Amino acid sequence: MQKLLPTSTAGSLPKPSWLAEPEKLWSPWKLEIAQLAEGKRDALCLALQEQQQAGIDIVSDGEQTRQHFVTTFVEHLTGVDFDKRETVRIRDRYDASVPTVVGAVSRPKPVFVEDARFLRQKTSKPIKWALPGPMTMIDTLFDNHYKSREKLAWEFAKILNQEARELEAAGVDIIQFDEPAFNVFFDEVNDWGIATLEKAIEGLRCETAVHICYGYGIKANTDWKKTLGSEWRQYEETFPKLQTSSIDLISLECHNARVPIELLQLVRGKKVMVGAIDVATNDIETPEEVANTLREALQFVDADKLYPCTNCGMAPLSRSVAKGKLNALSAGAEIVRGELSR
Ligand SMILES: [Zn+2]
Repeated sequence: MQKLLPTSTAGSLPKPSWLAEPEKLWSPWKLEIAQLAEGKRDALCLALQEQQQAGIDIVSDGEQTRQHFVTTFVEHLTGVDFDKRETVRIRDRYDASVPTVVGAVSRPKPVFVEDARFLRQKTSKPIKWALPGPMTMIDTLFDNHYKSREKLAWEFAKILNQEARELEAAGVDIIQFDEPAFNVFFDEVNDWGIATLEKAIEGLRCETAVHICYGYGIKANTDWKKTLGSEWRQYEETFPKLQTSSIDLISLECHNARVPIELLQLVRGKKVMVGAIDVATNDIETPEEVANTLREALQFVDADKLYPCTNCGMAPLSRSVAKGKLNALSAGAEIVRGELSR
């Protein structure tokens, strides 16, 4: 039987200071060309080692080979001009200068497949790989070609499906799509968001996950959270549709979030990656705090479907804080595992 409460992270981990400036989101690389390629691989090995030492069960690359969870993927596609930038409002929340879609988008060659193969060689544990979701991708670009968010999302969904199939062939066990935009554009989620996500996972035999969160602990996000009131009910809009979708796992934010825990019953039957680690604070959770969040979730998620996780990525944190949080996640899950086996 599979181990109960297998732990994992939402994706990103801090980068070593020789690779990119620490404690900074989307920090530029410090190395160039061949040294950069080697540096990314070395950092991937470190990130893997830190997860394994902390006893994390489903490991990732810690997103050591990407600067940004959307643009690093888009950089490898045709049809997007990175020199032509426009300022757009991202997730209805903050303005950013983004590249422009100037022609038909396509993926001339695999993006992360070599990195995934490298990770696969380095560990016998199950591995999870994160890709941006179609809706979050279109929301991070200026489109001057398709002139339709939906059309562009469908194009990205096809490209993501090509990449996902090759990641699966490279030995990835869980492919995760990051869709923070699902917490904002509910009409679009309904109209075509879920459908494009289904396109992205079409034909896959490995497990698939969608990660929907309230974002990294950056100011634009913490300010936004302050406007959401005492109960964050955004998941209520999307969970019923995800419950009937073919996605296997739902990754969500929980610890220190004002998400009413009973919303988890809306995805009953799915596996749920419950965020038991707050990524917006440097305070390291105690194992007992992690255990409490998991116990609450267990009221609405069957034990064999509960996957303890972090609320979001930990890229902007210091390495020592991230390490502490990984250890707390493992220890907290172990407490609850012990209770369940009694
Ligand atoms: Zn997230």
